[in-house]
Amino acid sequence: MTVKELLDILEEWAPQAYAEDFDNVGLLVGNPDNYCSGALITLDSTEEVVEEAIAKKCNVIISFHPIVFSGLKKITGSSYVERVVQKAIENQIAIIALHTRLDNHPNGVSEVLCKQLKLSKTEVLVPKKATLKKLVAYVPESHIASILEALHKAGAGSLENYKDCSFLLEGTGKFTGTAQSNPHIGKQMEKVTVSEIQINVVFEAHLFHRVQKALLDAHPYETVAYEMYQLLNSFSQVGMGRIGELEKEMDQLTFLNWVKKQLNTELIRHSPLTNKNIKKVAVLGGSGSFAIEDAKRKGADAYITADLKYHQFYQGEKQLVLLDVGHYESEQFTKNLIFDYLKEKLPNFAFVLSNIKTNPVNYF
Ligand SMILES: [Zn+2]
Repeated sequence: MTVKELLDILEEWAPQAYAEDFDNVGLLVGNPDNYCSGALITLDSTEEVVEEAIAKKCNVIISFHPIVFSGLKKITGSSYVERVVQKAIENQIAIIALHTRLDNHPNGVSEVLCKQLKLSKTEVLVPKKATLKKLVAYVPESHIASILEALHKAGAGSLENYKDCSFLLEGTGKFTGTAQSNPHIGKQMEKVTVSEIQINVVFEAHLFHRVQKALLDAHPYETVAYEMYQLLNSFSQVGMGRIGELEKEMDQLTFLNWVKKQLNTELIRHSPLTNKNIKKVAVLGGSGSFAIEDAKRKGADAYITADLKYHQFYQGEKQLVLLDVGHYESEQFTKNLIFDYLKEKLPNFAFVLSNIKTNPVNYF
């Protein structure tokens, strides 16, 4: 398998389109045409991790966090980022980052946290915008079934718990082929009136090229009439954070102990406790202060995230308790998430789980 083929597998699972605009994901270091000897899976790409990759004969590192985030102006080894990139290049090791492609993923970072906390009825906390597109195509009646089948096969019309969704309208198409045309119905220079069906299907934005190709390949016309739109609807499966319910309501102290145990952490920073019991819990792995208001609006009794600043702890008001469990701790299950997916997908390939704890934060 080449690096490019590995990238395609990752794209199929956690598409680039799920990433936030500010992010830097995909292949960050290395040649896509190189052959992969093995892939080491880690939360962070540190120098130690590159050494681990060398020792374990892996020439690809699949990292959750991107080692290069806001650009590099020089590579002289004067910072840890430069040294990691330099060491990777010198040893012909490719580095791939997934980051927000997994944060926004329906079964990504925050869903894994929900599972760890045994939350049920989970849904997205902050749905990602501009993730849906719509295709409107005009199709002769004779080809409706085959075109719909091709579109559904390409992923169009699959939303949440439903698949093969479409909306069809009957109408009349009119056209006149020029002297250079080769019409499927009628002849050159002939005015044609034909019964057509307007197909409406919605699909995830990243499937754009696949859906377009499916339509053009299956449609019998020389020139296909169709439109594609970006929708303003949010897709409720894709987005940052999740919100769900505990099996049983708990008082706040019991809840804090439960989180400590389930996340195997020694320390939780939290906002003032109230007398309110906890049932509905919002979670967002990594820095999640931006979603405090979303957690409040959706009626969470607690919001578990990381990297909260002093003043942000006031933002819970009396409505919800804010828990900062630590950045690493909130994302600690992510490397297993990546490993488990890839191992199941390609059981015979050498995927290796890094055993280096890359958390730079220590508690004393
Ligand atoms: Zn993070």
